[in-house]
Amino acid sequence: MPWTERAPWVLIRQLRAIMASASEPQAKLDNIVKVIASNMIAEVSSIYVRLPDDSLELFATEGLRKEAVHALRMKKGEGLVGLIADWGEPINLSDAQKHANFSYKPETGEEIYHSFLGVPMVRERRTIGVLTVQNKIERRYTDEEVEALETTAMVLAEMIASGNFAGASVPSDRREASVTLTGIPLNDGLALGHIALHEPRPQVLKFFADNIPAELKRLDEALLRLREDINRLLVNDQMSGDEHKEIIETVQMLAHDRGWARRMREAVSAGLTAEAAVERVQQNQRTQLMKNADSFWRERSHDLDDLANRMLRILHGHDHTSALNRLPNDAILVARNMGAAELLGHDPKKLRGLVIEEGGATAHVAIVARSFNLPVLCQVADATTAGDHGNPAILDTGTGQLHIRPSLELIRAYADKARFRARRQARFSRLKNVPPVTKDGERISLNMNAGLLVDLPHLYQSGADGIGLYRTELQFMVASRFPPMTEQQAAYSRVLDEAQGRRVVFRSLDIGGDKVLPYLKKVKEENPALGWRAIRMSLDRPGLFRTQTRALLRAAAGRELSLMLPFIADVSEFLAAKELIAKEIAQAERFGHQLPAKIRIGVMVEVPSIVYQLDSLLPLADFISVGSNDLFQFFFAADRENDRVARRFDPLCPPALRLLKEIADKAKAHKVDFSLCGEMAGRPIEAMALIALGFRSISMAPASIGPVKAMVLSANAQKLNKTVLELVNSNCRNIRRELCDYAQRENIDI
Ligand code: PEP
Ligand code: MG
Repeated sequence: MPWTERAPWVLIRQLRAIMASASEPQAKLDNIVKVIASNMIAEVSSIYVRLPDDSLELFATEGLRKEAVHALRMKKGEGLVGLIADWGEPINLSDAQKHANFSYKPETGEEIYHSFLGVPMVRERRTIGVLTVQNKIERRYTDEEVEALETTAMVLAEMIASGNFAGASVPSDRREASVTLTGIPLNDGLALGHIALHEPRPQVLKFFADNIPAELKRLDEALLRLREDINRLLVNDQMSGDEHKEIIETVQMLAHDRGWARRMREAVSAGLTAEAAVERVQQNQRTQLMKNADSFWRERSHDLDDLANRMLRILHGHDHTSALNRLPNDAILVARNMGAAELLGHDPKKLRGLVIEEGGATAHVAIVARSFNLPVLCQVADATTAGDHGNPAILDTGTGQLHIRPSLELIRAYADKARFRARRQARFSRLKNVPPVTKDGERISLNMNAGLLVDLPHLYQSGADGIGLYRTELQFMVASRFPPMTEQQAAYSRVLDEAQGRRVVFRSLDIGGDKVLPYLKKVKEENPALGWRAIRMSLDRPGLFRTQTRALLRAAAGRELSLMLPFIADVSEFLAAKELIAKEIAQAERFGHQLPAKIRIGVMVEVPSIVYQLDSLLPLADFISVGSNDLFQFFFAADRENDRVARRFDPLCPPALRLLKEIADKAKAHKVDFSLCGEMAGRPIEAMALIALGFRSISMAPASIGPVKAMVLSANAQKLNKTVLELVNSNCRNIRRELCDYAQRENIDI
């Protein structure tokens, strides 16, 4: 009988018999490698176990020299085995000796073997060892063989981690001492609290099914329950916006995926328990999806993890709500990764911070966390294993550190810091209803940037004058498909309703660059930041742009509509976009739709070339807003997403400020409203410089409104103007220091 038809369940049955036997652990391992070798018709089968120093020791072998057992050690990253442990992925080679990482160990006698298949043994997402098979002939192992070896590795990982083998690496005493981990800050802040492991994944304890039909029934029932739970989540929809519905809809779609259900059923039919099948299939999918550089698939992998967790909890009889109730009141949520829907499922009042082992700035969860104004640290290795639920912790994005079980001295030091911040915060909230007017009577309009419906409450909490930049692409980014016109219209309508007459500046879709739409076919570009993005895409895909314009026109019927076009590099692009907008207006009139009471069409100044066309552009535009994030990225030729260079150039330097002054002067001369909505507007010292240059309207993250307002209230615009212009016209390379000194002398609150 061919291997693929009989081996998986035969192997599993034999493994079960070995595990149930009364033999010593070493004898069990020796037997296991024997049955693996015979089932897979391999000449060699070996088990390597990871030791606390991260080296890998040969624990058992069939086919290699027995003297090498417990004698052969591979250093971290050494050989193919080391590579598998480091990458956490299988390696399948028809001729291992030709691989650059092949490391010849004479004591094993393995020089006669060519084909090689090795898989990691993973437990709690840590690779704790490696399982290999080898053959003399050159051949590639089939997908079914890889799958069978991975299933075996999963069972072995459990056996080894359950402590039967002296010396094997199992996390133990690490859980008492203080630990400091580092990561990349995604959202600023400081949090003192207690670790809440985000829905810790239930441990799979039983791997082999006693009764396969009964196990299949359990699996089917759990799947049914899972689908019902998700449907209920959609119906109840405690979430506050349409984008959240979109996220749950994606999870719902995956829960109904036939392929997923089929693969789990196959695993159970091969002899695994329902829990082991969920785990097995998820491990496989995860490896496949994480190989994909596309953030869409990586994001799906997290959604699938979420689903697998939900399935395991159902199979274990855990109630989902119990995990939520366990959240301490000052939770620093720690997750390997998390779908945005899961974060939305937590009570924001109890959350102090978020730490994720993976993730990046574009992860959906990061977008939502920013809306919650939570400090976030991502790419924190070992975060989920270094701390236990309830451990005290400090999250400091300033240093990019997470301190778990910190010392008393550290807690005291941070408590002082936190009290200071809280006092500042309280002072800022008291300013909420105070109009931002400088000491010499200049009214500065302080607006906030937003992009999701969950952002809207900040409008009142922060006391912003309006929304200076509504990034419409965020609704598209968290969706699983293009939001249809009606959904777009409903979202824009809600934004305007909630703004209650305060001005909202909608920016048309700014996708491309680092903002990818998962469902939009990706075009391969060498330099996406300079590529087919924003208005360029809108003009090439007029259907997309016109649909959005239609949704905006309808949402703003009878009200004011401010629409801003991103990434205009040439006046002709603005004219072309205006023509499309005019067509939509004409069509709305033809069909008798009520139009907005007023329509303002503006331009984002974020490409240097447009600065030198302002005399032609300004007579055509109703307003402009400087997108300083992009403008300076191109001005300094420094990628804003690249940590190495992003902070290399300070916007508080004469050339950058001259550029801004030129824009402000031109707009004033043409009597056109102008504003700035890049990140610099939210930093008090930069905002102070902007006022000096003539800006009277700026837009920033809601959390910055308070600190910037405090600065405005304590500054004198005229005096500032004089001082800053002198510095801008000087030969100083950087004027940050001088501005800080000036603020201190003048008692300006920065
Ligand atoms: C900018 O470029 O300054 C801006 C506000 O737009 P975004 O950050 O969305 O590119
Ligand atoms: Mg921009």
